[in-house]
Amino acid sequence: MTLLVGARVLDPDTGETSRADVRLDGDRITEVGPGLDGDGRVDCAGGLLIPGLIDCHVHVAFPRPEPLPRSARVLEAVPVLRKLLARGITTVRDAWGADAGMRHALREGWITGPDLLISLRQLSPTGGLGDSWEPPAGAVDHFGDPSLPDPLYDGPDAARAAVRRMVRAGADWIKVGASGAMRAVRAGVDVRPTDEELVALVDEARRCGRDVLAHAHTSVAVVSAARAGVRSVEHGTFLDDEAVAALGNAWYVPTLVPNHDGEFAADHRRSVRLAAEAGVRIAAGSDLAPRPMST
Ligand SMILES: [Zn+2]
Repeated sequence: MTLLVGARVLDPDTGETSRADVRLDGDRITEVGPGLDGDGRVDCAGGLLIPGLIDCHVHVAFPRPEPLPRSARVLEAVPVLRKLLARGITTVRDAWGADAGMRHALREGWITGPDLLISLRQLSPTGGLGDSWEPPAGAVDHFGDPSLPDPLYDGPDAARAAVRRMVRAGADWIKVGASGAMRAVRAGVDVRPTDEELVALVDEARRCGRDVLAHAHTSVAVVSAARAGVRSVEHGTFLDDEAVAALGNAWYVPTLVPNHDGEFAADHRRSVRLAAEAGVRIAAGSDLAPRPMST
């Protein structure tokens, strides 16, 4: 048993803080209140105790730009996970890049970090968000790792198969690119899934007991993903009234911080304001990654 004494404690229901002690029994909080008695007292005077935070959009591991062995991508996640936990974040949803081995290592206590929910890869049609293709080399799989399966699909049946590949490899969530990356949107080569593909993909995910998070910059992509029934929409840089209305019960994860001084920061802030005013449910996502990246 452990007793945390002397700190202020946040009540998330009211937003108020008050002086209180917290009793821990193993990994459970069993009592919160002033003047608790007990052994194992830990002096927390001057501190503020809050419930663990959830970051709904991170990338704890990415393929590195230099040609390093596969283990470098895995080991790079170790300090990222440690840093997240040190910030008070106790659960993260990885929006692609982490594999089931990292989740296993955390559960076994081999490494320190938050609980990790994984999506493995970004599902997309040929030429879309998850397609790594370069003119001189053709298709380039930066992973070459069966624990991160092929994310490409064309057609509703292939979309179902892609979901099944992710579930087989241990995905907790299914990530889909409902729009391309920002550079593709800007270049006018934004290859998007069809509505039929998205509906099939969401349906298959649900049959497998999973929900879908959708990367979407443009309004048309947000509308298409939300109507297909995704659980959350990520980025949503260019929302309009139609997109906000389509969001309905879906969560909006703006990942505003990495874009705070970007070219479209003002559009992005306007989108968040529009969604907040309409009562859309908004969740925190930092888009934290081992190194800066483009979305
Ligand atoms: Zn991201």
